[in-house]
Amino acid sequence: MVDSIEKIVSLCKRRGFVYPGSEIYGGLANSWDYGPLGVELKNNIKNLWWRRFVHSRDDIVGLDAALMMNSKVWEASGHLKEFSDPLAECQKCHARYRADQVGSACESCGGKKFTEAKQFNLMFKTQLGPVEGNNVYLRPETAQAMFVDFKNVLDTTRKTVPFGIAQIGKAFRNEITPGNFIFRTREFEQMEIEYFIKKENWQDSFEHWRREMLSWLEDIGVDLRHIHELEVPAEERAHYSKRTIDFEFDFPFGRKELYGLAYRTDFDLKNHFAEPPYRDQDGAAKGDPRQGREEFYPHVIEPTWGVDRSLLAVLCSAYDDSDKNRLVLKLKSGLAPYKVAVFPLSANKPDLVNKARSVYKLLTTNYQLLPIAWDDRGNVGKRYYSQDEIGTPYCITVDYQTLEDETVTVRDRDTMKQERVKVEDLESYITAKINNAP
Ligand code: ATP
Repeated sequence: MVDSIEKIVSLCKRRGFVYPGSEIYGGLANSWDYGPLGVELKNNIKNLWWRRFVHSRDDIVGLDAALMMNSKVWEASGHLKEFSDPLAECQKCHARYRADQVGSACESCGGKKFTEAKQFNLMFKTQLGPVEGNNVYLRPETAQAMFVDFKNVLDTTRKTVPFGIAQIGKAFRNEITPGNFIFRTREFEQMEIEYFIKKENWQDSFEHWRREMLSWLEDIGVDLRHIHELEVPAEERAHYSKRTIDFEFDFPFGRKELYGLAYRTDFDLKNHFAEPPYRDQDGAAKGDPRQGREEFYPHVIEPTWGVDRSLLAVLCSAYDDSDKNRLVLKLKSGLAPYKVAVFPLSANKPDLVNKARSVYKLLTTNYQLLPIAWDDRGNVGKRYYSQDEIGTPYCITVDYQTLEDETVTVRDRDTMKQERVKVEDLESYITAKINNAP
């Protein structure tokens, strides 16, 4: 576990996980670009989530809705009125703060007096087409599309309650005080599920999702001792929520929200549909058409995950500099940007390079092992440390012995142990290791 956010920021910049956005133009406040390794890690997190919550369950289907929606959506959902934070200004230097987060003095000038808090709507407004006043908003959450498309999904999938709709995508919030690296930005990604249930089952479903969220954290290598469940008190919950738990993580800058789980009642579907959008199937299933055919508004349990905060928690958890000689990113193999690296012992020996190239090529036929890193610079020790830093679980070295007996060394990131493995067994050896990793 890392002890300072600076270490993560520096590793991310140095190795190409995350760069400051628009850097050569002086940057753009708190915007970040995911580099070659960052995009791999982020995609691995999203793909794992999709496999786990969509592909491996028959009660959840996916959606990928437009980012810009009819403004009536945000009117109906309450976002136009309610999606705001209190904004206060330092009376001396006019620096702006979130009134509920401001300390005792202004961070810029030390001033102690602030203006009275005003509500500031966090939605970004833009204009659709060339017509003035044709305002649209960038979505501040992915959730609403899953309510708006509820009937379309129902009619095209024949799902019955309980079932869920899942979506991964960008959300935009004009945060008053973004910060802490990728923890709070104005453009970020969410993974959300709206799980539709009958009202009487909300407690069971809530508990199911609470456990699923904890188990997911274990899947991505976050130690549950650093997770704290915060039961959000009624006065701090969103207006539609009957129960909310925040899953907080011990980030190096403090204990902060990582994920949320909320019971949203039937608030959302009632806002968007004048008539109940769901007809109960129970009576029909029992062969009695008079029973249980009532129409109703399903209730909703909403587990929500931030992608960027997931990635940050994964990096913080995996970061291990306890060994003075090397920095290791102990990522789960499934999340590691590279699963394997292949090296020729020396870049100056064409026989070794050619053999290593053929090993590299052999492994690329197995999609599960992609992408594979190639490195022939410097000495092998340095290459190992370079791969340790980015979390590559296995390094393969082709040496002189390979040319004689068709074996290579496979070096394990965590134990640093090396084993000789036959080239013909390599693919199954590595695949088994990755699949059996805890
Ligand atoms: P916070 O209290 O930190 O502002 P929130 O309670 O407003 O968060 P939700 O509306 O519940 O957040 O959003 C769901 C998830 O989306 C959060 O748990 C978080 O992981 C992520 N998230 C929310 N806002 C941001 C942001 N500005 N930058 C990055 N991720 C965010």
